[in-house]
Amino acid sequence: MAEIDKSLMGKEFLEMAFDNCIKCSTCKYGYKNFDKICPSGEKFLFESYWASGRIRTIRGLLLGDLEWNEDVKDPIFACTTCGGCMDSCQAPHADYIIDMIEALRELAVRHIGPAKNQEFLVSRCEESCNPYGEPNSDNQELKKKYELPDKAEWVYYIGCTSNYRQQNLRDSTIRFLKKAGIDFTLIDEHCCTSPMIRTGQINICKDYMNYNIAQIMNTGAKNVITSCAGCYRTLKKDFERFGENFNFEVFHTIELVKELLDEVKINFKSDYNKRVTYHDPCHLGRHMGIYEIPREIYKKIPGLKLVEMKRNRNFAWCCGAGGGVKIGYPDWAVEVSKERLEEAKETGATVLSSTCPFCRTNLSDANENYNFKMEVLDLIEIIDQIDIEVLD
Ligand code: SF4
Ligand code: SF4
Repeated sequence: MAEIDKSLMGKEFLEMAFDNCIKCSTCKYGYKNFDKICPSGEKFLFESYWASGRIRTIRGLLLGDLEWNEDVKDPIFACTTCGGCMDSCQAPHADYIIDMIEALRELAVRHIGPAKNQEFLVSRCEESCNPYGEPNSDNQELKKKYELPDKAEWVYYIGCTSNYRQQNLRDSTIRFLKKAGIDFTLIDEHCCTSPMIRTGQINICKDYMNYNIAQIMNTGAKNVITSCAGCYRTLKKDFERFGENFNFEVFHTIELVKELLDEVKINFKSDYNKRVTYHDPCHLGRHMGIYEIPREIYKKIPGLKLVEMKRNRNFAWCCGAGGGVKIGYPDWAVEVSKERLEEAKETGATVLSSTCPFCRTNLSDANENYNFKMEVLDLIEIIDQIDIEVLD
């Protein structure tokens, strides 16, 4: 066996791959439903595109049995980091598979650079603080429009996808918070850095997170809310790794909606007479373990009939956009989503709903490209369409 190149040991958990993966292939299919779980393996159909193969790739690269070259690039980056493998694998390293893949990507960026087009995520941020390259909004106009204060108990961290691509989702969230009487404000945001962490381009993460932390702390807020599953995972989990000196709590919008309903502070008053199916965003479900809260909210909306897709909760099929795939492999990202739309259509639902602007974008792209004629809406956009009674 070749000697291990210690300079490549970026993370201790990479070493776990050496002993724990027994190549059983359980990660290829949902552990309980035996259905397809890995968009990457199903597309490329080579072992190196499933989690088991990626772990062998890590082993090969760390031992020096494989060379860093262009041949390993797609197996490393053509993965949505959806975590389906993580929930299917029954070995001790299961919970760390995504950490391993992301650590592998950090090493890959150092040795052979990012995947095609993923470098734009960073260069656009450097120009305008968001990965879409849109002129940066400091959110002052929105603050004025909605008469928001400088100091507040809550900050609504909008996130780049809601602010620059899914503005109805953003505005629905703001309208809900106003209606519910939440004391909140907005900050001048930099990207939360989720796209950079997911693609191994971590150089700007510390500065960006600490910038956002300083902005939030300036408002005096004790709580941060976001309507994006990617921002939620990053603020709640990845800030621990890169951020410094913060003492606020992070919530997804649906956690606040659920709390307000449970405490009978709000009530849904009008009907929404549609059949709806729910797509679990990977960053909210498998990455953060939130499955039932959105379902409980849908079920409380009068008239709404919630129906499940065949693959749901921790064995849900990914929307195809995450892990840098939307920018790195855009056609394939929409192909993955097409499979989700087919599954949604089978339920007889007319509305495909989720709780993430990035899922909403990719599912909408597939809906339009393949003419599924479904309505694709975020849960908060549905809530925006019904009357809400606010109780004392
Ligand atoms: S990652 Fe887990 S499920 Fe996949 S081959 Fe290895 S041990 Fe088996
Ligand atoms: S994260 Fe998703 S796409 Fe990547 S290997 Fe695991 S199941 Fe496949």
